[in-house]
Amino acid sequence: MKITFWGAAREITGSMHLIELSDGFKILLDCGLYQGAKEELYVRNKSFPFDPCSINVVILSHAHADHAGNIPNLVKHGFKGKIISTPATFDLCAYILTDSANLNQNDAKKRRGRNTHAPLQALYSHQDVQLSLELFHTAYYNKWYSIHPNVKFMFTDAGHILGSASITLEITENGTKTRIGFTGDIGTETRLVLRDPVPMPQVDYLIAESTYGARTHSRKETPEDALYRIFKETCLERKAKLIIPAFSLDRTQAVIFAFEKLSRAGKLAHVPVYVDSPLATDLTQNVFTKYPDCFDEEVLAYFNNNNNPFEFDKLTYILTKEESKQLNKLEGPCVIISASGMGEGGRVVHHLKNTLSKPENTILIVGFCAENTLGHKILKKDPPYIEIFGDIVPILAHTEQIDAFSAHADQSELLRFIDTQDKTLLKKVFLVHGEYQEQLAFKDLLQKYNFNNVEIPEKGQVFEINTAEYGVG
Ligand SMILES: [Zn+2]
Repeated sequence: MKITFWGAAREITGSMHLIELSDGFKILLDCGLYQGAKEELYVRNKSFPFDPCSINVVILSHAHADHAGNIPNLVKHGFKGKIISTPATFDLCAYILTDSANLNQNDAKKRRGRNTHAPLQALYSHQDVQLSLELFHTAYYNKWYSIHPNVKFMFTDAGHILGSASITLEITENGTKTRIGFTGDIGTETRLVLRDPVPMPQVDYLIAESTYGARTHSRKETPEDALYRIFKETCLERKAKLIIPAFSLDRTQAVIFAFEKLSRAGKLAHVPVYVDSPLATDLTQNVFTKYPDCFDEEVLAYFNNNNNPFEFDKLTYILTKEESKQLNKLEGPCVIISASGMGEGGRVVHHLKNTLSKPENTILIVGFCAENTLGHKILKKDPPYIEIFGDIVPILAHTEQIDAFSAHADQSELLRFIDTQDKTLLKKVFLVHGEYQEQLAFKDLLQKYNFNNVEIPEKGQVFEINTAEYGVG
């Protein structure tokens, strides 16, 4: 059999790895969108380097767009096999792929409006999303499922976002069992709401993420303490507005729960908290509360006691555009949590425009902001102004960034996760989903810990796995 790395190879987005058995059966691990430079988005995501009709099964690690977002396009190009995910990933995909179809169509409209030479078609339609959802089959954590007479797989909880999974495949060829593991994205051990990552079964080959392969998260403060410090300075002491751009999936729910805990502790005074993102509201109210089995012990116990971890008396979910506009007119201190997380689109752009020029306010970034995004420019303050909707807005508000809410394991957590494998049985580690420099640093570290066979595959690189070589298992 062979593995080909078609995405998230020496970069972070576009996760997609193809496993091909000797009898031609093809398993695609993830089918993610490339999310880099805008000019390249359509072209890089549009076509596949293999025939989508030839894929038998897609197994998804989680619902993030860079792992699942190109599924409707695969279906549009003729894929008719099974898509397998956890039940929570399926529910999240229903919302996220629909939202992605909307964004795609708006982007295409804008390209048409500008009358540029860029392609005018949307990557996929709502109908493609609908057809994709009909192909989903769900599987639970910690159970083996058969997908071919010689192939079984098992999901284990990756603790990264709701429903996220590591995938272990057990493939029998020539009388030999070979296990190939794919970590998916691994969560942190200190995060709110979700359980910690669960070690994977022993494998022969491990495809491991390496997003923070060279970085260590600051652990000086817990997420609640960091949030409270900034909330207190902004809303209680300066009586001003705290704007938190946050991804609709995962980050928003973690921030809401941190505020819920502060509210329970009586620390919010009378300051209102608003969630202004229709997608985040849908995901919180319709999906998160449906999967308490993904919650960590603290949240599960609280939930089982008839409490909703995503509700408290000063919290309001904003639904209509009209209500969202009304927030601009609010006097006095308040917190607005709104998407998108990098400030690149969504309702948060209006809130940023409205608050950035007042020195008493704070913009708090709780996630990663890619270069050249609005969030990145605001943090950098160079130049000390920014153009939003054609207006020049000076950046006078306080700006803060905390990484306590990160959903990705840092270097030491990644190492601990991989180190749960017996390295004498592990034949090779493939590092994916990381910037190349970080991957090189992480490879060095793994080698210091006696993981001697570490590869950093290039896009399109093929690895033959000769099962006969290792004797009968
Ligand atoms: Zn992810």
